[in-house]
Amino acid sequence: MRIGAGIDAHRFEPGRRLVLGGVEIPDATGLGGHSDADVVLHALMDALLGAGGLGDIGEMFPDDDPAYRDASSLELLGRVMEAVAGRGFRVENADLVVVCEEPRISSLRREMAGRIEGALGVDPGRVGVKGTTTEGMGFPGRGEGIMAFAVVLLSE
Ligand code: MG
Repeated sequence: MRIGAGIDAHRFEPGRRLVLGGVEIPDATGLGGHSDADVVLHALMDALLGAGGLGDIGEMFPDDDPAYRDASSLELLGRVMEAVAGRGFRVENADLVVVCEEPRISSLRREMAGRIEGALGVDPGRVGVKGTTTEGMGFPGRGEGIMAFAVVLLSE
């Protein structure tokens, strides 16, 4: 068994679309970033790469590489999973926490979990997604951006 942790944060940027956990959320302010800025999948990819002894996403997908401009993080996750599987690992489960005031994660969590379970090749119920606020404190509380945490367990 191998465990991995990931964390990421992106700031809101008007005029961009919002993609969280592979799900596009209509009529919401997007996040700034080189790729589609899916902060949830970025945290997850770092957790997977860390658990697999494969480095981190900055190493695998450099943000000064034009190939990754507006890249779909779901596609990048597919490439991370190829690397993880290539090392002989499979995902046992993943647990994700999204920290923001808006949007409300409770109405999106099932769709996000389903999308991520598909990308990880795991059965339903193996990916948890939950949201929390910081009760107005710090940058998520001031509505400046979204933060995400991920923990994954791999088996060999
Ligand atoms: Mg990121």
